[in-house]
Amino acid sequence: MTTSFTIAIDGPAAAGKGTISKAVAAELGLGHLDTGLLYRAVGVKVLGGTPAIEAAQSLTPEDLQRDDLRGPEAAQAASKVAVIAEVRAALVDFQRAFARRAGGAVLDGRDIGTVICPYAEVKLFVTASAEVRAKRRFLELSVKGEAETLEEVLADVKARDERDMNRSEAPLRPAEDALVIDTSNLAIEEAIETALQEIEARR
Ligand code: C5P
Repeated sequence: MTTSFTIAIDGPAAAGKGTISKAVAAELGLGHLDTGLLYRAVGVKVLGGTPAIEAAQSLTPEDLQRDDLRGPEAAQAASKVAVIAEVRAALVDFQRAFARRAGGAVLDGRDIGTVICPYAEVKLFVTASAEVRAKRRFLELSVKGEAETLEEVLADVKARDERDMNRSEAPLRPAEDALVIDTSNLAIEEAIETALQEIEARR
């Protein structure tokens, strides 16, 4: 593999892109950045009273270690700050530097193939129906003992889809040269295999 090799994996919430990204990074020995965490960390700081742009411009590594970033509140807060152009702009350099790290990198998010790394050697767009995604997220939350109902999780997924796809800044959509993987009827192993085959073909 060349010293700099970028794999961009985009898609809506709970489509499986995080799992695929981690598996691909581990299999190929690449760095992995979950870019949603950056937006979640900004969102959580905003919930704590910091203005959004200031929160994005002053983000620290410690902000990304907080244990309250994974829940539904952080997710909604993230998608609200993610519509702000200055917030997105403040996070670009860090993501691009990570993408070009020696040895190669996998970045997952919403705009990696379209805005952050339009030059990425591999672009995947991982998607699934809102119902399938909500069910997966509901099962994950149930295992953790979180008290959301399936209807609440579905409403949450749809609200985020709506905001992510219809914003004017870096809306969620597949890059023209992305391979679309619909995981609605795929086992996770099959989705990972499809991703690895595409990467192999582009190397
Ligand atoms: O991927 P995750 O669900 O953690 O992302 C949380 C939110 O952050 C998304 O709903 C989206 O609004 C925002 N986001 C984004 N661009 C990215 C990654 C996440 O706008 N590259």
